[in-house]
Amino acid sequence: MSVTIYKILLATLVLSMNTIRGYYQKRYKSTHVVTTRVKQKGREKLLVWLMFFSLAIPGLIWLFTNWLSFGQFYLPDSVRLLGFIIGVSALWLFYKVHNTLGDNWSPTLEIRKEHKLIVSGVYKWARHPMYTAMLFQMVSFSLITANWFYASTMFTGLAILLVIRIPDEEKLMIEEFGEQYKNYMKQTKRLIPFIF
Ligand code: SAH
Repeated sequence: MSVTIYKILLATLVLSMNTIRGYYQKRYKSTHVVTTRVKQKGREKLLVWLMFFSLAIPGLIWLFTNWLSFGQFYLPDSVRLLGFIIGVSALWLFYKVHNTLGDNWSPTLEIRKEHKLIVSGVYKWARHPMYTAMLFQMVSFSLITANWFYASTMFTGLAILLVIRIPDEEKLMIEEFGEQYKNYMKQTKRLIPFIF
């Protein structure tokens, strides 16, 4: 199948993901005055930039230039199409997570006024389903593009994000919700239900 088709599939996923994020970002901005506590502000900003340079920039380069052609490897069409299906599922999860968190969501680590601990819906299955959705989105992008260079920048960026953010986030949650969060930790895994 022609590379144009894969570019269209990738662009569709990227645009859909940004539309979902954009909607909640707008909603967050209109209520940001209700934030009561911010954690690791500088480090958090760096992490947002990290995702920009590891995920967004190489993705745009792959879509609009052939500078990354050195990283192409062979994958059958069926596997690349499977990548798209994984991407659509990840998109659904990404939406579901935002919808479940509602006004408790923030792009960086924060406690909002009247912050509620969510332990139901997708949060019953894992403590960080949004990061799970990102992980699957990256698996999807790697299969669709069949480009090892892009796959390595994405996974390196995500690994750094998770290693730094998850402990910070769980510390913040424990500070705010104490025993309630500790019990929740006993009942759930971080990213993949029953596994990790
Ligand atoms: N780590 C979660 C949420 C990411 S959004 C996930 O992957 O799904 C980050 C914000 O969500 C943080 O500022 C934190 O305050 C909030 N948050 C994380 N887990 C939460 C939970 N179970 N209930 C309510 N808010 C939560």
